[in-house]
Amino acid sequence: MTETKNKRSLMTNISMIIRGYKIIFKLFPRYLFWNTLSNVWNHLTPYFGLFMSSLILNELVGDCDGRVLARLAAITVTGAFIIGLLGRLIGGRSDVNSAGLWRCDLLYFLERQCNMQYDHIEDPEVVILREKIQTMKNATGAGLMKLLWQFSYIVGVIVKIVASIVLTVSMFSMMSDKSYTGFLGFINSPYSFIVIVVLIFFNAFLAIWSKNSEERQVAAIHAETAKINAMFGRLANTYGADSAVFNAKRIVLPEYAKLLIKPEYLRRSVKVQTKHRTARLLGSHFLAVALDIFMAAKVFVGAFGIGSFWLYRGTVEKFIAGVADLAGIIGVLFQNNDALEEVFKFLDLPDDMYRGTLSVEKRDDIEYEIEFRDVSFKYPRSDVWVLRHVSTKFKIGSQLAIVGMNGSGKTTFIKLLCRLYDPTEGQILLNGIDITRYKYEEYMQIFSVVFQDFKLFSFSIAENVAGSLDYDRERVLDCLERAGLGARIAELERGIETPIFRNFENDGIDISGGEAQKLAIARALYKGAPFIILDEPTAALDPLAEAEVYNQFNLIVENKTAIYISHRLSSCRFCENILVFHNGEIVQSGSHDTLVADEKGKYHELWHAQAQYYV
Ligand code: ADP
Repeated sequence: MTETKNKRSLMTNISMIIRGYKIIFKLFPRYLFWNTLSNVWNHLTPYFGLFMSSLILNELVGDCDGRVLARLAAITVTGAFIIGLLGRLIGGRSDVNSAGLWRCDLLYFLERQCNMQYDHIEDPEVVILREKIQTMKNATGAGLMKLLWQFSYIVGVIVKIVASIVLTVSMFSMMSDKSYTGFLGFINSPYSFIVIVVLIFFNAFLAIWSKNSEERQVAAIHAETAKINAMFGRLANTYGADSAVFNAKRIVLPEYAKLLIKPEYLRRSVKVQTKHRTARLLGSHFLAVALDIFMAAKVFVGAFGIGSFWLYRGTVEKFIAGVADLAGIIGVLFQNNDALEEVFKFLDLPDDMYRGTLSVEKRDDIEYEIEFRDVSFKYPRSDVWVLRHVSTKFKIGSQLAIVGMNGSGKTTFIKLLCRLYDPTEGQILLNGIDITRYKYEEYMQIFSVVFQDFKLFSFSIAENVAGSLDYDRERVLDCLERAGLGARIAELERGIETPIFRNFENDGIDISGGEAQKLAIARALYKGAPFIILDEPTAALDPLAEAEVYNQFNLIVENKTAIYISHRLSSCRFCENILVFHNGEIVQSGSHDTLVADEKGKYHELWHAQAQYYV
């Protein structure tokens, strides 16, 4: 999944990482608090031992007072015990708060997706983007998770570097009282301090640069292997499905062998890694040797004692290791920006659908009139007109049927009506006002749709009907009764609290297709919207059963406006007004009797083509 990306500037890299961490801090505040505390503790406390042992050494080579030594030893032992105990307690809190971290970002993405305008959700490119983000996370934790896991290393490294600088700084300022010339004179002068600091910085810079360059080159090599991985995937699938028919192993196995035996890319990436790692190792060794010479010379001229030498050597070693770790982390974070880029692309999908400001009256007794005025529509990224010059009007309380062959644009008509998309041309009006001018959320409230591919959730029946964890019992029962599920619910021990499906609860019930569809209808009724739309939710039923559902539904909806969609004409024949769609246009409209009487019309043709099913 790794890909080579355009080189980002340093500032872009840094600002992406900062943005990522802002999200991480928002998502995991408790865990990060305890984890940071635990890390600071774990990285700071070793200096206690180092510091105490330097005091003991100084005492040993100095006054060597038994009582002082005993006291120092007692402090060291007790201190180490307390440090260990506290460390475990803090670590425990951090571990407790780490539960469920791996899935927290899912919630974040889900929330974003729920607030996303509908055309993004359906957009295949967005679907692929989501999958890509998920695949990268599952493969190496790349993306937000990588930032989370790297955070404890960052804290550790910062503590290591800052603590060792604080403890080492005095080494540079300590000078011997005697005067020296030559090399020892240089060591005993502030110039040596400058040279050492320059060396340290130079080495740090080199390490970071080298690590970054290594990560980039290795990623580029691995991007080539992505192709090979995809090929492996294809070979594996082919083998499973078709081996019996085509004896595919004759093709597949040799291909496998070729790819496995010649991992040329592996050789190249190891070469890159070895080159860079050796360079970094040499750099830090050289620095360590220079520092050792510097410190030994300081002891030699009498700037400080052997105990301090011990302390400084320990802290300098930690400093050098800290810089190497920092280089590693920066390399990893910069590389991770490839994944973060995809994450941000998803989070930043534009919300450019116009959301108006007018309020929509929601009472049932209000007069609603919907008008499509010369509406044409193409799906985003498509050049095909799915609807062309559609004009029609309908009022609340009327029954409207939309019929036509599959692909004639019926569902699209509904999607435009519900503002899942906006028309490419033309206008849709509610009571004479363009629907885009109404407040989006309020406008959405006036429609209840049972889509063709409706989904139920693994929650209780009542929660499904209400579409919420809070519900009005009486209303749920009433809607279920009207949808024809009253008797079935009465049989259930837990009534409307019975969970559907068994994914999460053993006493969940499995429901039939017909029952699921009735539940979806009850849900549509519960919403209490003035417009109820049935978009062929009955596709799984046979034509006669579908006609019956539609007939019943006609009684259920009472005074509401019902819109029925079907490619089966028989289901909708009871409607006062039928729109016939063909190739994205309304080619006919009227009642069943008038339409069927027009022998040249599309309706007549479809009716006779389908009649055989209804005999
Ligand atoms: P119907 O409901 O009458 O079966 P639809 O409204 O679902 O028809 O589809 C009408 C046309 O629009 C079809 O040709 C379909 O392929 C196309 N279409 C549907 N959804 C999309 C989409 N998201 N992107 C592009 N084309 C689509």
